Amino acid sequence: MGRRKNLMESKGQEVLIRALKANGTDQRVLNAMKKVPRHLFLPEDMQSFAYADTPLPIGYDQTISAPHMVAIMCDLLKITEGMTILEIGSGSGYNAAVMAELAGENGKVYTVERIPELVDLARNNLERAGYSNVTVVHDDGSCGLPEHAPYDRIAVTSVAPEVPPPLREQLSKNGIMVIPVGTQYQTLVVVKKDSKGNITHKAMGEVIFVPLIGKYGF
Ligand code: SAM
Repeated sequence: MGRRKNLMESKGQEVLIRALKANGTDQRVLNAMKKVPRHLFLPEDMQSFAYADTPLPIGYDQTISAPHMVAIMCDLLKITEGMTILEIGSGSGYNAAVMAELAGENGKVYTVERIPELVDLARNNLERAGYSNVTVVHDDGSCGLPEHAPYDRIAVTSVAPEVPPPLREQLSKNGIMVIPVGTQYQTLVVVKKDSKGNITHKAMGEVIFVPLIGKYGF
């Protein structure tokens, strides 16, 4: 286990959680975010900003998403105990840890990252923070992860030009995917597959993410 939160970090996290609550974040998501020590997912020189509601650099021109964005995506995903979840874009591993808390010990999170150094970073961070139900895979996540499909939930944490067809296929019936989509402007889109396999898309508002690079990305 890495170091525990210091007093400043504990206070900072309290303030952050109160702000997310005031924004209407679901209580289960707040509980999960309270449990995950965000400072353990950041480089040492960034740890003092861990509980500020802002994206932060994690190296290799990539970022850990802002807490409010993690909260919004987890709210939209409606993750419950025991679900199998796919994340595209592991980065620091923080969002995967929050989703692992929501899926509980009978749930499973697979997270795919294309940059090998970030695969190691996410693996180390998740191990240090004590998450054993998350598997980090090095691959082009724009093609999904067919070997463990279908997934109850899919979270894409980088922006795609359009919803990659393999991700749509790998979503289970009654499944939900949240993905930023767009070229000039980016929109957070909720993709739902009903019990018959029919797909619907709902645009939730403008966002800013780093690009999804790969076969079905940019
Ligand atoms: N979820 C991360 C966290 O909690 O720290 C933040 C993700 S960061 C905003 C987006 C990540 O997507 C980057 O680490 C980037 O390398 C990754 N990425 C971009 N294209 C990808 C692809 N085709 N497959 C897998 N990962 C990709």
